[in-house]
Amino acid sequence: MRTARVAAIKTFSPHFRLVDLEGEAFRNVAWTVGQKVQMSMGSGLIARTYTPMSWDASRGRTRLLTFSHGDGPGSRWATGLREGDTCQCFGPRRSLDLSGLGSPLVLFGDETSFGLAAALRDSSQAAGATQVFEVSDVAESRPVLQAIGLGQAPLIERIANDAHLAAVEAEISRLAASSAHFILTGKASSIQRVSRALKAAGVTSSRIKSKVYWAPGKSGLD
Ligand SMILES: Cc1cc2nc3c(=O)[nH]c(=O)nc-3n(C[C@H](O)[C@H](O)[C@H](O)COP(=O)(O)OP(=O)(O)OC[C@H]3O[C@@H](n4cnc5c(N)ncnc54)[C@H](O)[C@@H]3O)c2cc1C
Repeated sequence: MRTARVAAIKTFSPHFRLVDLEGEAFRNVAWTVGQKVQMSMGSGLIARTYTPMSWDASRGRTRLLTFSHGDGPGSRWATGLREGDTCQCFGPRRSLDLSGLGSPLVLFGDETSFGLAAALRDSSQAAGATQVFEVSDVAESRPVLQAIGLGQAPLIERIANDAHLAAVEAEISRLAASSAHFILTGKASSIQRVSRALKAAGVTSSRIKSKVYWAPGKSGLD
């Protein structure tokens, strides 16, 4: 368990916040893009998982982009954080292992994947990666992506019965025509649909890595 202090917070919108955590325990830590931290929710063993956007091991500082979807412990934790608060976490730990993936890279995800997208953008392995996001509210998400330098990413708004996934599949299948490698993150059922579309387009499993970040009815996936 590492202890850190909330060094800075930027509230982008009602659902999105940029959270900088700093602490002695974050110094000299080995971190790679795609790894996770599990933030303690303060009671018992309850934790929620986030993806560092960056990790400055010499300063002992990391940055998370939190999306508070609703009323779970993680959403309440992220919305209620204040500068100077103390928090505890496990990690960084292995999660999405990007070794072996070639370029160009395409990331499919949602609001929970914006932090990963920024980390990828800054990594030497994935510089120039293309992103495709499904989001609940384009008007809210667009400025957040602009603020983190990903304003050009295509955003596809969720609609009832996942009908928007047809547009996601079309976009992803178009990108599959190149020799791209794919990272799929976010909602479990969307990952499944996109993965099927990629396989139908002839993309082999070795060109796809996926990690479920959340699923309706499940809590605190890690
Ligand atoms: C490896 C990993 C990395 C992650 N990185 C990030 C990150 O960088 N930033 C980030 O914001 N999130 C990230 N997540 C997702 C985040 O951990 C979940 O959204 C978390 O479940 C939210 O906690 P909660 O307590 O609010 O909801 P929970 O109590 O966990 O879930 C309650 C219910 O809310 C619904 N729900 C959960 N998440 C969402 C969602 N995103 N949208 C809509 N409904 C939802 C589900 O129906 C669920 O049953 C990551 C998850 C994993 C596994």
